[in-house]
Amino acid sequence: MLLFKKIDPLLNYLTALRAQHRAIGFVPTMGALHEGHLKLIRQAASDCDFTLCSIFVNPTQFNDAKDLEKYPRTPAKDIPMLASVGTDILFMPGVNEVYPTNLPESTNFNFGSLDKVMEGAFRPGHFAGVAQVIKRFLDIIQPDRIFMGQKDYQQVLVVKALLRQLHAPVQLVMCPTVREADGLALSSRNVRLQPEDRKKAPVIYQTLEKAKILLKNGHAPSDIQQWAVQTLHEAGLRAEYFQIADSETLQVLTRLSDANKAVICTAVWAGDVRLIDNLVLDENEPDTPVE
Ligand code: AMP
Repeated sequence: MLLFKKIDPLLNYLTALRAQHRAIGFVPTMGALHEGHLKLIRQAASDCDFTLCSIFVNPTQFNDAKDLEKYPRTPAKDIPMLASVGTDILFMPGVNEVYPTNLPESTNFNFGSLDKVMEGAFRPGHFAGVAQVIKRFLDIIQPDRIFMGQKDYQQVLVVKALLRQLHAPVQLVMCPTVREADGLALSSRNVRLQPEDRKKAPVIYQTLEKAKILLKNGHAPSDIQQWAVQTLHEAGLRAEYFQIADSETLQVLTRLSDANKAVICTAVWAGDVRLIDNLVLDENEPDTPVE
C-alpha cells in the first residue's frame, strides 16, 4: 500500500494509472476505522482494479467544534488495517493540503430539501461541508466508483445529487450497514460510549426493526414515531429525530402507500455520544451482522 499525504505526487501517480485504463474505486473515510469501513474497501477492491482510501477528518462538515475535537484519530491502527484488506493507496492529507488559501471559492450546491431535513436540520452546514470535501476529492482523484455506507443514508442521497449536478461520470455504490452482533451499527463514535450507554445502544436498532414491522402492518407513521421516541426514552436514550420518510426525497410520509419506498432514520443521544442509524423498507440486501 502506498501512502500519500500531498496532492501533487498523488496526481502524478494517478495520471499514470489512468493511462493504463485502470478502474479506480474510492472510499472516503474520516479514519478510526472499523469493520464497516473495511467492508467498503473489500467491495471496492473486488469491483475495481485499484482501490484508494482517504482518511481526512473534514473540519468543514462539523457544526460542533467539540465534536470535531473529540473525534477519534487512530492512524497507527488504521494503516495496517487498510493494508490487510487490499487498499492500494491511502491518501491522508492535512487540512492545509485540502483547503489551501488559494483554493477558488467553493460552489454552493442546491440539494433541494435533501440537505435540509434530519441531519441537515440538526447539523446546520454539515452537508455543505460534505459536498465541499467530496467535490475536492473527486477533482483530485477522478475515481470511476465511489463506495459509501448505508449507515449514512442521507449522505448517500446528497452525494448522489452532487454527482448528478456535477455531471461527474462516477458511479456511487451503497454498501449495507455493518452491525455488532447485538444490532448496534458500527461507528467510529462507538468507542466514546460509556459502558452503561453501550448497553442501552442496541435499543436503537431494535426500535428501528420494530418500527419497520409496524409500518409494514399498516400503522400510521406519526403513531410509530411517537411510540419509537417514547421507547428510546424509556431505555435511557434521547431521540433527536425519528423520521419515516420517502427513501428518495426524504420527505416525511404521512402514510405508506404501495408507491412509497420508505426509510426510517434516527439520531439518538446515548449519554454525550450522538449515534445515527436507519433501515430502508425495500432494501434488497439485508443488514449484515459482523461475523
Ligand atoms: P466515516 O469515517 O464515518 O465518515 O465513514 C466513512 C464511510 O464509511 C461512509 O461512507 C460511511 O457511511 C461508511 N460507514 C460508516 N459506518 C458504517 C457501517 N457500520 N456500515 C457500513 N458503512 C459504514
